[in-house]
Amino acid sequence: MSLYVLKFGGSSVATTPRIEHVAGIIADFVEKGHGVVVVTSAMQGATNRLIELTKAFTDSPISREYDAIISSGEHVAAGLLALALNSRAISAKSLTAWQVPITVSGTYSDASISQVSADKIFEMLSQGIIPVITGFQGISANGDVCTIGRGGSDATACAVANAIHADECLIYTDVDGVYTADPRVVLDAQKLEEVSYNDMIELSSWGAKVLQTKSTQIAKEYNVNLRVLSSFSEGYGTRITNNTKYITNNHIVGIAYNLDLFAVYTSKKEIIPELEPYTAMIKPFSGGFLAPKPMQAEIQSSVPLMMNNLDINIDNNIGTVTVVGQTKIDKAYLHDIEYIIDTEYSQAFIVPFQQTLPLVNKLHEMFFSKN
Ligand code: ADP
Ligand code: ASP
Ligand code: MG
Repeated sequence: MSLYVLKFGGSSVATTPRIEHVAGIIADFVEKGHGVVVVTSAMQGATNRLIELTKAFTDSPISREYDAIISSGEHVAAGLLALALNSRAISAKSLTAWQVPITVSGTYSDASISQVSADKIFEMLSQGIIPVITGFQGISANGDVCTIGRGGSDATACAVANAIHADECLIYTDVDGVYTADPRVVLDAQKLEEVSYNDMIELSSWGAKVLQTKSTQIAKEYNVNLRVLSSFSEGYGTRITNNTKYITNNHIVGIAYNLDLFAVYTSKKEIIPELEPYTAMIKPFSGGFLAPKPMQAEIQSSVPLMMNNLDINIDNNIGTVTVVGQTKIDKAYLHDIEYIIDTEYSQAFIVPFQQTLPLVNKLHEMFFSKN
């Protein structure tokens, strides 16, 4: 018998028939005698709808209430999944972050998990009850509900898996593993058997949302056995492990892209002090920095003077394409590239928005074409 954390993403619990299907996946583990702890995201689209609702009264909602609202989709999904399990005569109870408890630190909307208490989870398991835990949320030191960044249920799953020393943390999603590029964009992307923690962190920090970056960081730090697989089809999926292939083999892992960033071009070399609270979400480069579009209003209002400075230019109409692995592509070879960001593990290109997906395909063909 093994102990598993099973995490289901929004598409896996998008409708009540999907939740019923997920209950079937959980039932298979139970029938085999395994210990199971479930973490769930909100039903697909729910979080976006909640975000829209927060805009009804103001363009910049109070952070505390914003997080209280947008974390609520997970409550519904966890409750429904517990109902589906009980209707199959499998004892299950939903647990919110309050009830576990899961504590967090840092800022609203981008908090980091500091602790998951294992006591209640073990108590329920010993009584034969499956805990169905809400992902994406935690409780701050002052008792507020905070969210941990979009896609954050992945991080909840990894933190829970670490807290209970699970044998494996399985991330069920709508693709059957991690690919050399987003398989919805590159039709002949190749599925990877295994990706190292470092490669995965680099891929997701440049936009591959199949795993939230923080989740793999937690898995790496605590050596959580992590696997990405589909809740829609059978198959082993992709293992995320400790190996560091590309560093030793000059290996290219994959191509990531991000359409959710805006660029600030500035001649100023030193970090603008007002931006320090945003350091974790900003990517600096020689010509300025990149930041997430949802943070644009907040970032602009924190540095009002900056926006009047003639040295500064903001561009919303960009995308990034990143080759993860060790390579250097000559800028002359590619058209429409505004900037190249070289890091130890990757080379990222800032391109006009419309050029993003064509460039993903072009670079994928260059590195992964079988012909
Ligand atoms: P969930 O709702 O299950 O958390 P997400 O939408 O967050 O699912 O992540 C799954 C999606 O990640 C896939 O549908 C796919 O389009 C996208 N994706 C981006 N890059 C990759 C990649 N390299 N490999 C697999 N999927 C990727
Ligand atoms: N429901 C949250 C989101 O849409 C968290 C998650 O899906 O993991 O970002
Ligand atoms: Mg996700």
